[in-house]
Amino acid sequence: KKVLFSGMQATGNLTLGNYLGALKNWVALSDEYECFYSVVDMHSITVRQEPATLRKRARALLTLYIAAGLDPEKNCIYYQSHVSGHAELTWILNCFTYMGELNRMTQFKDKSAKHADNINAGLFTYPVLMAADILLYQADVVPVGIDQMQHLELTRDIAERFNNIYGDVFTVPEPYIGKVGAKIMSLQDPAKKMSKSDENPNASIYLMDDPDTVMRKCKRAVTDSEAQILYRDEQPGVKNLIDIYSACTGKSPEEVVAEFDGKGYGVFKMAVGEAAVSVLKPLQDEVARLEKDKSYIDGVIKANAEKAQYFANKTLRKVQKKVGFPDKI
Ligand code: ATP
Ligand code: MG
Repeated sequence: KKVLFSGMQATGNLTLGNYLGALKNWVALSDEYECFYSVVDMHSITVRQEPATLRKRARALLTLYIAAGLDPEKNCIYYQSHVSGHAELTWILNCFTYMGELNRMTQFKDKSAKHADNINAGLFTYPVLMAADILLYQADVVPVGIDQMQHLELTRDIAERFNNIYGDVFTVPEPYIGKVGAKIMSLQDPAKKMSKSDENPNASIYLMDDPDTVMRKCKRAVTDSEAQILYRDEQPGVKNLIDIYSACTGKSPEEVVAEFDGKGYGVFKMAVGEAAVSVLKPLQDEVARLEKDKSYIDGVIKANAEKAQYFANKTLRKVQKKVGFPDKI
């Protein structure tokens, strides 16, 4: 089987964008590949976190992976910080990554503008840690949203550079981008992507939002004064709502446009809200059920960390040898 790696940060509460753009695809791909799905808590501390909150969110995220339908017997579901190889490989890859490359990363530019008081080196080398995450497991494919494409390109460049020097050490990974939901935009500013670290709670539908909140946020979603439901760039707010409805119902954007032909924005927004609720409700119920089973989740955490560590070490030993670190005695 080919290998798949992906991960999410335990920062903030997950949004419908994370679900439609990432998690939903993960579940669809999980039979086909040998999968590693990580809760990337080491990435999270590039921005200041309250320790107790981070710990709680990391666990909630891991539980959510399972609730969304990832079987922890078949998929390796684990905390990044439990596998030391991520940090060890990052150091080595740091020495094969250029400042100029990292300087071009748009996420760094965005995040350093947002966290101007804490532009730390970790925020800058974030893409190298991401490269290590992926290369450590010799992943063939990485399902990500479009916002992570630039980082994945860099991962490929680093892998190729390393391979050119030392022979075939790393598998060069391919991106996997789902057809629908690849980029869900903010409900308040359709020029920005929906993001779990957005300060405005009305901009995002959170996976744990109750039905009333979901409906209210959809009702307040920014649209335009065109008063027609068309799927086009000139109407980014409406387009985004069509994308959400489409991803939640499985209907194509064309079908959605036909379905709401001649209807008002009010009616359409209600339908979008209901479609989102029908996706979120079963997910929330399953999370609630799993949260009660502490020993089951603990077992998953322990067994999968060991499994991940085993695969990570195989790559790490090889890399350490290649760069010339002396054998352990
Ligand atoms: P942050 O603001 O903390 O970076 P985020 O919402 O961007 O949060 P990440 O943990 O960076 O979340 O990304 C998790 C996964 O969700 C990635 O695969 C990313 O591509 C995907 N993703 C994030 N936002 C969206 C979105 N708006 N639409 C589709 N996919 C998304
Ligand atoms: Mg992000």
